[in-house]
Amino acid sequence: MPDSPLLSTLLSSNPYFSAGVGVLGVGASLAILRQGLTRGMTLARRHLLVSLEIPSKDKSYAWFLHWMSKQSIRNAHQLAVETSFVQHDNGSVSAAFKLVPDNKMLDITTGSPWETVTLTTISRDRNIFTNLLHEAQELALAQQEGKTVIYTSWGPEWRPFGLPRKRRSLDSVILDKGVKERIVKDVKDFINNGNWYNERGYLLYGPPGSGKSSFIQALAGELEYNICILNLSEAGLTDDRLNHLLSNAPERSIMLLEDIDAAFMPKRETPGSSVTLSGLLNALDGVAASEERIIFMTTNYVDRLQQALIRPGRVDLKEHLDVASDYQIRTMFLRFYENETELAERFVEKIRGKGVSTAQLQGHFVFWKDDPRGAVQNADSVTQGW
Ligand code: ADP
Repeated sequence: MPDSPLLSTLLSSNPYFSAGVGVLGVGASLAILRQGLTRGMTLARRHLLVSLEIPSKDKSYAWFLHWMSKQSIRNAHQLAVETSFVQHDNGSVSAAFKLVPDNKMLDITTGSPWETVTLTTISRDRNIFTNLLHEAQELALAQQEGKTVIYTSWGPEWRPFGLPRKRRSLDSVILDKGVKERIVKDVKDFINNGNWYNERGYLLYGPPGSGKSSFIQALAGELEYNICILNLSEAGLTDDRLNHLLSNAPERSIMLLEDIDAAFMPKRETPGSSVTLSGLLNALDGVAASEERIIFMTTNYVDRLQQALIRPGRVDLKEHLDVASDYQIRTMFLRFYENETELAERFVEKIRGKGVSTAQLQGHFVFWKDDPRGAVQNADSVTQGW
């Protein structure tokens, strides 16, 4: 990633910026300089400076921090790191390019503080902000291109979880014959229809390791959507927060409610979680469908789900992803060992009826990579070790 031309320009041509970054770099001596600077700067600030506040709720917050972290100019990296740990605006080096998480704004749903980043520069350079945000945005979008962003809930908001991942191809997920095509067609029809007010929900159920998560990832890749993962049994999640999260999901995202059965166990094994069934139903129904959002739910135990949750209108397509069928065993074998049709049949014979999951098969084939005969001879070990 090339250094930002914008930041280089700023540092070489804007005395405020270079001074500021330099001061930050000095570390210990900063404290001494601060006192002298503060008084003068408070005055100057009022007249000469202009600030831009980026709340963490805003999309550009993540873009900006990411942009900042990409700058390898001396001290710029430290600046970002330091920033993320400073809790209060101490007012000391505000004449420079400065990042200060600020506690001024409160989130009304939780009462917890929003962090904000504050950028300050001299008034005549105010267009720097627009340029900078554009550059940060371009960088972020370029990084996401061809990738899937996974968001997780962070208090009342969504934040990217790790770096965007390479898109997973649909071909890499082997479901039973026709299942993948059926879901993909339904979702695409729904999207093309453009009738977002008729929300559409999907349920994938079946044993662990049957490819539910992998398929949703691949589907997101195919649609060029991102994924928002929400675990309903997460401690601290309340009906209000759930409602807020569902209605404020990033655009073009698949909302994934995982292990939905675990949320409302009669004797809840996850103390602290307080989402109620009616809270979830309200959140699913009541929210005017925000744009381009699709809901997927997954569970290993479909019998434990309340009918109200999966009735048509809330869940419109239910698909059972079961242990590997003959078709899946054969197809996966041939994906790993091209053209080995005879061995594939022998392998199917050995595995059939054993209740093996596709995840177990995947593990087995990875283990016997490049050795189809070994994979067949050791077929009994599929169920072991995974
Ligand atoms: P689930 O969500 O049903 O528990 P996952 O999708 O998390 O299962 O699968 C676990 C691992 O096994 C993943 O790394 C995935 O690559 C592999 N896997 C599982 N099922 C399949 C499948 N049907 N096709 C390809 N890979 C699979």
